[in-house]
Amino acid sequence: MSMQKSYCKQMRYSGPESLTPSDASKFDVLIQMEVLAGCDHGCLGCFVDKNINPDMNQQIIDRAKELTDGVKRTGLNLREFVIGPTDFFSATNTESVLNNSVVQEIMREHVGARIAAPAKFDIATMERVKEIYAILDDEDKYRRDMIIEFIMPIGKVDQMLNDEEYFNNVMEKVEFFKNNTPKQMDWSWTLQASNVVGKKIDKETYNKIIQKSVNEYETIVEMNPAFSRARSQLVQRRNLFGWNDFLGRVIDKDNAQDTVMSMANLYCNSINFIGLTIVPGEHGPTTHLNVMLHEQAFFLNNKNLDVTGLTFEEILDRKNELVTKGINRSSKVSDCNGCQFAVACASRLIFEAQETLNVDGCVLNKDVLAEYNPYDWTWNDDAMEKLGVTS
Ligand code: SF4
Repeated sequence: MSMQKSYCKQMRYSGPESLTPSDASKFDVLIQMEVLAGCDHGCLGCFVDKNINPDMNQQIIDRAKELTDGVKRTGLNLREFVIGPTDFFSATNTESVLNNSVVQEIMREHVGARIAAPAKFDIATMERVKEIYAILDDEDKYRRDMIIEFIMPIGKVDQMLNDEEYFNNVMEKVEFFKNNTPKQMDWSWTLQASNVVGKKIDKETYNKIIQKSVNEYETIVEMNPAFSRARSQLVQRRNLFGWNDFLGRVIDKDNAQDTVMSMANLYCNSINFIGLTIVPGEHGPTTHLNVMLHEQAFFLNNKNLDVTGLTFEEILDRKNELVTKGINRSSKVSDCNGCQFAVACASRLIFEAQETLNVDGCVLNKDVLAEYNPYDWTWNDDAMEKLGVTS
């Protein structure tokens, strides 16, 4: 096994988007399925439906296969296959999803793809971890060196920072990932909007989280604005603006580069990227374009983003139409008119988020964006390879 090398850097600078458009050679696709049911945790502000009915799972998985076949047809790159929305280790049907032959076929056909999953492995028992890896490491089911990425929400901040027993528990699993599976493993902490809005994490605590993570847990913190899953528009807006305020309070030029802020780095996953989520709907699965990068950001009620029933090619066309519509809208929104980030925002369908949230202005924190978009064209590994430069 190996732990993913330089993934922190890759996440910051994205795929070959950091190349000039004429050199860009890769278009990444993320497909997320909401199929896991049940969860043992009660994370503050949890925004997902923990009790989805798994009866529709086969239809959801078949829709994912339809879309991934489209990815293959169009020569694009399936980068992430997200299996959620609940905890990978305590959901009641993780085994059933991993043992599904269509899921296995998808992962066999897309050799560059990773399974990504929200996973509270911190408090999962070793026995449970081994049960799940018995399936993942069965080479009749999954490729030996497939990449797996776990995204672990920071639950209790004090515990993450100061509890030695907890630290040992986490690192015991990390040692397992390093030594007991041939899979390429990657994991990161995630700090979610609901967490910062509810807990008022100050700058000193934020800096401690980042330092502890990088220096002791040996991984990164990714910032995930999971605001859009709240039930009402009011709460969605409150979470989003609470999140932007939080970022403005804690991030400065000294600590900006210690965090992966894929939401703020506009070179990451904007122009050459599409994210799709499949959820159980009233009359069958529905499919939605993700906005603002993060897979948790999608709006079930926005009809423009609803691509249920469309082929993958039609979805690409829909996305292009929405990007053009966004660029047009940018000149009519006073905050956005002339903003240097407008094209990246349009590519991330941020203007659909503005419409859905009924916000006629910037939905990001531009001071924070400035820290992450210095236009220094720092190349990532993919870009270096393309340019023939050895890192
Ligand atoms: S003002 Fe904000 S939302 Fe509008 S284009 Fe600039 S960064 Fe994007």
